Amino acid sequence: MCGVVGIFGHQNSKELLYAAGLALQHRGQDACGISVLSRENRGLRIRTEKHLGAPTNVLVRPEVQALPRGHAYLMHLRWPTQGEARSAENLQPVWTPTTRGLIVLVANGDTPYIAEQTAFLNSRQVRLYTPNDGECLTAALAYHIVQKRRSVLESIGRLMHYSRGAFAAGLMMEFEDALYGFCDPYGIRPLILGQVDGCYCFASETIALEKIGATIIGMVNPGEVIKLNDAGLQHFQAVEAQPRKFCLIEAIYFSRPDSLCLAESDPVAFELLRQQAGAQLAAELAPWEDAYVQGVPRSGHSAAVGFQNATHLPMANILLADPKAPRTFLEAKRTALILDGKFSAIRGSRIRYIELTDDSLIEGRNLGHCTSALRQAGVEKIRVRIASPPYLWPCFYGVDTGGEHKTLMAATMTTEQICRTIGADELQFLSPAGVQKAYGNGGWCDACFSGNYPVPIPAHLMAAFRARHQPQPQ
Ligand code: SF4
Ligand code: MG
Repeated sequence: MCGVVGIFGHQNSKELLYAAGLALQHRGQDACGISVLSRENRGLRIRTEKHLGAPTNVLVRPEVQALPRGHAYLMHLRWPTQGEARSAENLQPVWTPTTRGLIVLVANGDTPYIAEQTAFLNSRQVRLYTPNDGECLTAALAYHIVQKRRSVLESIGRLMHYSRGAFAAGLMMEFEDALYGFCDPYGIRPLILGQVDGCYCFASETIALEKIGATIIGMVNPGEVIKLNDAGLQHFQAVEAQPRKFCLIEAIYFSRPDSLCLAESDPVAFELLRQQAGAQLAAELAPWEDAYVQGVPRSGHSAAVGFQNATHLPMANILLADPKAPRTFLEAKRTALILDGKFSAIRGSRIRYIELTDDSLIEGRNLGHCTSALRQAGVEKIRVRIASPPYLWPCFYGVDTGGEHKTLMAATMTTEQICRTIGADELQFLSPAGVQKAYGNGGWCDACFSGNYPVPIPAHLMAAFRARHQPQPQ
């Protein structure tokens, strides 16, 4: 999962871009990059700066500050999907040089067909230098636009057709004074369009646009291309739109709670949807009478509020996380050390029973540390309540749970085994029907819970996943 921002034609574009990007830091803290399109005497020129590190560190670097002012900007906040997380070669924006000038792209999402697309490009003598899907998408666009002389719109349509998967992307070129945004045919990844002081902008979440005073226009539709230039805003349908399949994990976990979910007919804050999921947990299994409610810090807080509102049990607030610890799901390979010191519980509260909520259980790395901290503080019985169903299937659309270093706990263990492993006395997952009640029928991708992938997954990827996820003996 990554964050993208684009803005065209505002006299303070650079400042607005920074503010919008900082509102999306939770979407990617491994790296940050900016491209700026400026009008110069000899024509259009794109300059890019991209560096490893969180946006707060990258945006203050002298070389980033020294970028010239332009009239169109793209920003990318990277959370690793394809390619090594800390490798500088995988950072975005990605550019491809062509005989007509640079083509520059930022993208959030992934295509499971990267191997097929790479093979296609190689067969046309197009070389790729990194395993990053962003480079593959950019090179494919360059191939269609420059080598095959197709229009930008037709080229994006071909990209959507052949590089099947999930992407919400921004595009600029040194041979057209415009900024493009586009979304995959199922609208799996979000791209939100807004307007500020008569200029148009887009970002991965509404909060980024609200922070810069923009009016929210709406989501870019499945298979849609938007073009921002001096004439204003134009919409095109690059391929036939499929029924939207918006990523349910965006709603359950990734998006900021104060961002609006636009997948439903009435915009609603993700926080309120998550609270509804917490209330559903209580509706499906009655709570212990003398229990207190406790959310796993940050990720389980919204479900705890919903659960507490539904049950009127007291809130415990005795489990704390180091406020400086990063989101551990973002931290893939660096997690063990971080988790050791991440959680602590307040001693002396005399709380004996806890209903402990969390938003999801993917690798299950936080929960064992939480239960052990609570027991050290004297809690006798803990029931863990997960506000989503078991995460059984890998995501190949940008949440990177199909990677080699990932093990999905529910895909290898029974609920009883998970319960023992995380040190709980009982464990409850929200049912699929409960998810529907909480999140509505807004057209979700729920493949990681149901196995129903909107874009079919190549057999070799599923076979590799199954080989790594043999059920544990009882
Ligand atoms: Fe989101 Fe899961 Fe679908 Fe991936 S498979 S896009 S994580 S809902
Ligand atoms: Mg990607």
